[in-house]
Amino acid sequence: MKRRCIVHIDIDAFFAAVEELLNPSLKGKPVIVGGLPHERGVASTANYEARKYGVHSGMPLAKAYRLCPQGVFVRGNYQVYSAFSKKMFSVLAQYTPDLEEASLDEAYLDLTRCRTLYSSLPHTVQEIKNRVEKQLGIRVSVGVGPNKLLAKLATNKAKPGGLVDVQPGREEEFLKDLSIETLPGIGPKAQVILRMLNIHKIGDLWGLPRTTLRSLFGLNGEELFLQSRGIDSRPVSMASIPKSISRETTFPEDLWDRRLLLAHMAYLCDRLALSLRKGRLFAHIIEVKVRYSDFKTEVRRRLLIMPRQDMGEIFKIAQELFLQLYSGSRLSLRLVGVKASDLVRTRPLSLFEPYSERRERLGAAVDQVREKYGFGSLLTVREGMLENLYGFEKQRGFVLKTASLTK
Ligand SMILES: [Mg+2]
Repeated sequence: MKRRCIVHIDIDAFFAAVEELLNPSLKGKPVIVGGLPHERGVASTANYEARKYGVHSGMPLAKAYRLCPQGVFVRGNYQVYSAFSKKMFSVLAQYTPDLEEASLDEAYLDLTRCRTLYSSLPHTVQEIKNRVEKQLGIRVSVGVGPNKLLAKLATNKAKPGGLVDVQPGREEEFLKDLSIETLPGIGPKAQVILRMLNIHKIGDLWGLPRTTLRSLFGLNGEELFLQSRGIDSRPVSMASIPKSISRETTFPEDLWDRRLLLAHMAYLCDRLALSLRKGRLFAHIIEVKVRYSDFKTEVRRRLLIMPRQDMGEIFKIAQELFLQLYSGSRLSLRLVGVKASDLVRTRPLSLFEPYSERRERLGAAVDQVREKYGFGSLLTVREGMLENLYGFEKQRGFVLKTASLTK
């Protein structure tokens, strides 16, 4: 097969860089975007000054404040970041139709099909980098390789602000000394196991036979075997990210009971989260819709700097929005709905939060049960929510359904 030419481009400390650009007095200071020090939640971006204090994306804000009390904490503004993102993608789209939006600030370009249009690929890649930086006024890092994995690893090496091209025949040399956790297939647990086996660099992994990796990590071991050798056949896919996903219900009779309505919102969020998981998508916008008995419709949305996929998190947001919309109204509701939009495909860093791996596995397990026994066979709920309404039997945080939600 012909060697592909994949370019990965990533804005350095994106949100913080935008904040610095809009407010030059921040330059040179540690900047942490994601929330104020006393707020719950995690830092979504720390600039390089803040990283010197050990602050990194995904770290709880309280901890970031302890490490770096003199830091400037900013809540962030999704709309502004989104505008910068659109600017970058409009530049990139001029170079190839094979463009993948991996997240707001991260893209893959496949230049293989357009190769003949450009007399010198290295020159073109440099030009892309320069143009994006000029248009945005922000520094970006760029990696080039024969597939997405190597291109992305090259970008990591290029940070901040550089360009690394993994030349043909140089793949092994490039991979050999990289630390194992740079591979996307290696989670915290796998890291512990491998370090116990005295495996610290990707090159060390080459000594392990495929069967050993398989017996250690199951199917992930198979994946690891390929990744450690820089093998990756995933296509750069521009299509297939839908604009939005929504779930809504029109009730057979109008409802006014807030508890019952919220229970139904939980059900819709659960179904929405399932679709997101299936599409490997994360949402930057969650929107709730209600329609009153007089057919008046209202929506309320929340913009999220950190995209979400988890049912619990989506429901928490949807619940707040719903209660803002439907408080003190004397009208009953004929419809409720929840919508996820501005979808992206990258696993956000917030998933490095402590429970994330467990939650993700839980999600996968729930999906498996549902695939076999139908969606209604399992419902996920929040504490104290559905039991009284439907006669559910509670078991370890899950509620086994004993009555049907839909008549
Ligand atoms: Mg970035």
